[in-house]
Amino acid sequence: MNETLQPIFDEVLARNPGEDEFHQATRELLESLDPVVRLHPEYADAAIIRRICEPERQIIFRVPWVDDNGQVQLNRGFRVEFNSALGPYKGGLRFHPSVYLGIIKFLGFEQIFKNALTGMPIGGGKGGSDFDPKGRSDAEVMRFCQSFMTELYRHIGEHTDVPAGDIGVGGREIGYMFGQYKRITNRYESGVLTGKGISWGGSLVRTEATGYGTVYFAQEILKARGTSLDGTKVVVSGSGNVATYAIEKAAALGATVVACSDSSGYVVDEAGIDLELLKEVKEVQRARIDTYAEKRGDSATFVAGGSVWDVPCDIALPCATQNELDEAAAATLVRNGCTVVAEGANMPCTPEAVRVLTEAGVSFAPGKAANAGGVATSALEMQQNASRDSWSFDYTESRLQETMVRIHDRCLETADAYGQPGSYVAGANIAGFIQVADAMLALGVI
Ligand code: GLU
Repeated sequence: MNETLQPIFDEVLARNPGEDEFHQATRELLESLDPVVRLHPEYADAAIIRRICEPERQIIFRVPWVDDNGQVQLNRGFRVEFNSALGPYKGGLRFHPSVYLGIIKFLGFEQIFKNALTGMPIGGGKGGSDFDPKGRSDAEVMRFCQSFMTELYRHIGEHTDVPAGDIGVGGREIGYMFGQYKRITNRYESGVLTGKGISWGGSLVRTEATGYGTVYFAQEILKARGTSLDGTKVVVSGSGNVATYAIEKAAALGATVVACSDSSGYVVDEAGIDLELLKEVKEVQRARIDTYAEKRGDSATFVAGGSVWDVPCDIALPCATQNELDEAAAATLVRNGCTVVAEGANMPCTPEAVRVLTEAGVSFAPGKAANAGGVATSALEMQQNASRDSWSFDYTESRLQETMVRIHDRCLETADAYGQPGSYVAGANIAGFIQVADAMLALGVI
């Protein structure tokens, strides 16, 4: 890091002790900005980078609720409203036991630049709770969501802050939260949350958007390399929302998806993952992935524990969670001839993994570019809500695909312009940063 950026990063470390994931995300951005600060001294003069690393507002609250046995349970809720230079804070809510302030801040920070890259008027934010929905009844999830929203409602709004889903928050949770928001405020304010059901203000394609978008991005990378998805072998990690629809789109474009995973292990299915069965196991039964292998019969095997990245592939789509693909896994992918890694999850590759991949000539697309299709389609949902309209699946998907192509091209053009041809990391970080920084300059010291 250069002499302007290092003290800023030191300040981030000192002001945010113990928040490893937030440090990782800020370091990764700042490491790309060397050519930017050399060319634009005005950013340093206005303390843009220091301000961008400090959330505009951080909200932490108590979430008490009563379980099915009548016991009082206690969780912690978060909403980090990181940057509103481009529009209302926008970003998902994550319900997972690993959630603490450092996770929400890393996600919120990434979201600022991801949202800028979409070209839509949305700022960056993120929230969630250490609540674990796994093994909880629908009634318990509802009571938790209602309690969570009873505090959160006062901080959000269609022009203020617009949450959506993330890990552990899908249509069910968004429904319970939207219901409670509507009840407390006495407003049918559709644009306050995205990821809603189709009959009550949701957008077609929002469910599929993150996974589809990641595959569209991979397709553009392959085009730039003079090839295509057709006939390739793909490995996807995870088996939640992002993974499911990445598998669906990759298969539709002619790839064979030979493996996917969850936290208990992974399945290899050389015939190609049977998506209907996967959805039945994960979405309907909410079961573990070994159930998939059991029901699928001969073509599939379940490997308990282990790394899904041991399965040979041409293209790897990490769609599970942060830091799931480490240096050793990256080396295995390279050895097996993998040429493209596109992040469907947020920061799934460790910095060491990214180094191994890029040094080996693998095209690596960071999440803030490759998985931006989810939030881009959330912005399309907000547009539909604002005009009280609802668009067709095909039209909405064409808007999603155009957006992914545009982000891809913008990353490559920016990387070229700043002397790092082919680097999607440099391109995404620099393009996203400059857009937010210019808006912050224009808006003054606030
Ligand atoms: N949680 C998703 C993300 O990481 C989507 C956020 C949204 O739709 O607001 O981008």
